Amino acid sequence: MSKGRFGIHGGQYIPETLMNAVTEVEKAYFKYKDDPEFNRELTKLYNDYAGRPSRLYYAKRLTKELGGCKIYLKREDLNHTGSHKINNVIGQMLLAKRMGKTRVIAETGAGQHGVATATVAAMMGMECEIFMGREDTVRQALNVYRMKLLGAKVHAIDSGTATLKDAVTETFREWTKRIDDTHYVLGSVMGPYPFPQMVRDFQSVISREIKMQILEAEGKLPDAVLACVGGGSNAIGAFYHFIEDKGVRLIGCEAAGRGIDTFETAATVNTGRVGIFHGMKSYFCQDNYGQIAPVYSISAGLDYPGIGPEHAYLHDIKRAEYVPVTDDEAVNAFEYLSRIEGIIPAIESAHAVAHAMKLAPAMDKEQIMVINISGRGDKDCAAIARYRGEDIYE
Ligand SMILES: *Cc1c(COP(=O)(O)O)cnc(C)c1O
Repeated sequence: MSKGRFGIHGGQYIPETLMNAVTEVEKAYFKYKDDPEFNRELTKLYNDYAGRPSRLYYAKRLTKELGGCKIYLKREDLNHTGSHKINNVIGQMLLAKRMGKTRVIAETGAGQHGVATATVAAMMGMECEIFMGREDTVRQALNVYRMKLLGAKVHAIDSGTATLKDAVTETFREWTKRIDDTHYVLGSVMGPYPFPQMVRDFQSVISREIKMQILEAEGKLPDAVLACVGGGSNAIGAFYHFIEDKGVRLIGCEAAGRGIDTFETAATVNTGRVGIFHGMKSYFCQDNYGQIAPVYSISAGLDYPGIGPEHAYLHDIKRAEYVPVTDDEAVNAFEYLSRIEGIIPAIESAHAVAHAMKLAPAMDKEQIMVINISGRGDKDCAAIARYRGEDIYE
C-alpha cells in the first residue's frame, strides 16, 4: 500500500499552508515511534498517570441475562479522565514536546478529547486551547467547566451546525495561523496522514492488552470484538491486533440517530459515499451535490459525518462489519448495562452494548465476545434523563 493510504482511502488532502506542519509531525512520529526512550516514557505515563492497563472484566450477569456467548468488557472507562482518548493524547503530547512545541490546540465533540488534552497539557505545563461547537458547549456544559478548570481556553464555534465537524474545521484553520509553536492534537483516526496511522498506533494498546488478557483468562482468542465508531479511534484500537486473526469478527457500531432511513443519522458507512473532507479520502454523509450533510446522533462523540480511512478500507475488504444502532437502542443499552452490571457506560459505548444485546443471544455458549467500553457515562446522565422526560440539575 502506498504511503498514507488504506486502499483508496486516506491521503493528505490539505492546503499548502498546512503541508509543513503535517510533514513535521510525520518526521517526528517516524523518528520516535520505535525509539526505546520515547516508548519507555509513554508506557510510564500510560501506567502511572492514565492507570493502564485497563481491566478486562468478565460480565457474568450480562452473559447470563442475554443467554448466549461469554461477554467480556474492556474497561477503557476506568482510564484517567474517563475514556480511551487519553491514550492518544499522551502519545501526541510527548511528541509535541520533542518537536519543541509549547502550545497545543484540539477539537472536541462531547468534550472528552478536550478534557483529556487540557489534562495532559496541565500535567506537562503546556498552553492549551480547545475548539468546540457552540451546540456541544451547551450539551456538555460540565466538560467546558472542566477544561477551564484545567487551565485551557475554550472557543465556542458558531459556524455550520456548531458541532464536531465545525470544531475540526476551525482547529485546522487555527493551526495554519500558528504552526511554529503549536501542535494540533487531533482526537481520532482521521484527518491527513500521518494522523490516522499515528492515532491508531497510540490506541492499539487497547487490543494489545485485550489479547494478552483474554489468552490468560480463556486460553483462546475472542470470536467477536465490538466497539462504537465515531471517527473510529477506540474501535481501531480494539481491532488492530486482531486484524490478522481472521477468526475474530470485528464489528463497528455506528450512530444511526433516529434511523438510517431518516436524515437524522450519523451512520457513515451505512449511509455515506466516498468523498474528500478534513484532509482525507473516506466515506462521508453527503448530499446529492457532494456537500457534507448535517448529521445527528444523541451522542455528541459520534456526531461526525465521516469515518477514519482505515475503517473505510476494512469495510471495503470486508474484514470488519459496520452496523447501525439508533438513539433508542443506545439509551436502552445505557440503562441496561447500568442495572445489570453496575457499570454506567458512555452513551457512545452504549451503541456497542446495544448491538451486543442483539448478537450475543445468537452466539454459542463456548464463544467469547469482547465489548470495548470506550468511556464512562457520568457526563451523559443529565442528557439521558432529559431523553426520558426527566429534568435534573447538574
Ligand atoms: C470520543 C469518544 C468516542 C468516539 O470517538 P472514536 O474516535 O470513534 O473512538 C467514543 N466513545 C467515547 C467515550 C468518546 O469519548
